[in-house]
Amino acid sequence: MANPRLRFAPSPTGYLHVGGARTALYNWLYARGRGGTLILRIEDTDADRSKPELTAAILEGLEWLGLDWDEGPYYQSQRLGLYRARAAELEQQGSAYPCFCPPELLREKRERAEAERRPWKYDRTCRQLSVDERARRRGEGRPSALRFRVPESGQTTFNDLVFGRVELANTEIEDFVLLRSDGQPTYHLSVVTDDLDLRVTHVVRGADHLPNTPKQVLMYRALGAPEPVFAHLPLILGPDKQRLSKRHGATAVEAYRRQGILPEALINFLALLGWTPRGGREIISLEEMIAQFDLAAVSKSNAVFDPEKLAWMNSEYLRRMPLEKLLPRVQAELEAAGLWNPVLTAAEKKRLEDSIRLLQTRARSLNDFSGSGRAFFSDDFSYSSEAREKFWKEPQLAEWLTELSRRLMDIHPFGLEQTERCLRGLAEEKGIRAGVLINAARVALTGQAVAPGLFELMITLGQQRVARRLEKAATDLRQAITGPLNEVKGTP
Ligand code: GLU
Repeated sequence: MANPRLRFAPSPTGYLHVGGARTALYNWLYARGRGGTLILRIEDTDADRSKPELTAAILEGLEWLGLDWDEGPYYQSQRLGLYRARAAELEQQGSAYPCFCPPELLREKRERAEAERRPWKYDRTCRQLSVDERARRRGEGRPSALRFRVPESGQTTFNDLVFGRVELANTEIEDFVLLRSDGQPTYHLSVVTDDLDLRVTHVVRGADHLPNTPKQVLMYRALGAPEPVFAHLPLILGPDKQRLSKRHGATAVEAYRRQGILPEALINFLALLGWTPRGGREIISLEEMIAQFDLAAVSKSNAVFDPEKLAWMNSEYLRRMPLEKLLPRVQAELEAAGLWNPVLTAAEKKRLEDSIRLLQTRARSLNDFSGSGRAFFSDDFSYSSEAREKFWKEPQLAEWLTELSRRLMDIHPFGLEQTERCLRGLAEEKGIRAGVLINAARVALTGQAVAPGLFELMITLGQQRVARRLEKAATDLRQAITGPLNEVKGTP
């Protein structure tokens, strides 16, 4: 189909969920790969539950992911006239009828059916009313909803690009409401009206909407309107195969952003929730995704959202990202943590870049730059207690670190080989394994038990800073032996 028109139609009753983001992405990929148009439509007719700040958050989430749209956002709350006109059209041609049944009566009937374990569908009381009777009741000002007149026999069938042929007996379908008695459109009415009005050719949405589709198909047919192609996307489950929920961790896109996940990594991860690129490759560029993606290749099997896999993918993206792309993101992260120095000398800039290069090889998230990597950007960092316990055990360590600090200050040039030779020489003289000094020094320089290789780390931090930090650690250790810490611990 030339120039397909797709839409992403979130309801601003919650944040942008990862499932919603996957739907947006699949629409986007299909549109971008086929010279199509992506429309953004905000389904905010539920005035009680829709919130403008949620709309803003959804737009922000899409922008952060890089999922741009070509038309909209259209707001359904501003298009009520269109829905009422469609409803009137359906009624006029006999495809819809007013229902005067009071809500209390309907509730009572439903509860009775439930008590008797009968499936409840509207019993079509008002379907039989004569034209005159309808006019009379309306004339009396009796409130009425508008219901769709579902055929009493036959099947409603459509071909879903993902789920294949879907068939439902019309006897299974209720005469569903189009307009409520307060004049508010239901989801079915507004969606079909808009998809027609906006000339949508492909409806791509979550499989949770599959049961809604026969009703919508009936509406298209009643209107004699062209039907869009439907593609329902598989459900997303947690690793325990239960429907993805907060129990499994974050479900909002924003939460992943706050966790330091890169949008590129999240996009790649979401793309694989229901679709497998050729060759089964996991890391795939956006360009390749656009080129390869096809709705017909989407699987109908439930997809599993594995946060561990996302973390892995994020570290891969961090590792591979060129410095000029990574730098502004790290900057934002450091700014948020109050660690960003806006005025840098050339030497400081180089140190910053070297630090990022070193850290990116093992970072799992952007947060690691301000978290475990803090010592690269600030002298104000603390020693992790786990690292201290593990690597600061030897009683003579303070003495050794002081000596190491002193000797490192005498090295010229301060290079990889020289620093390593210096440390190993000292270890040999003291009759200890070099590893003991390496690990202890790493804690002194970064506060962490795990960090980049010690000698690269030293070069990046610079001679003076390294010497200072080693001496500070030595002082700390001496205090721990004689100072108040021991009293707290109760050591004699
Ligand atoms: N507003 C609906 C939702 O957020 C989407 C409706 C549709 O795509 O047809 O689930």
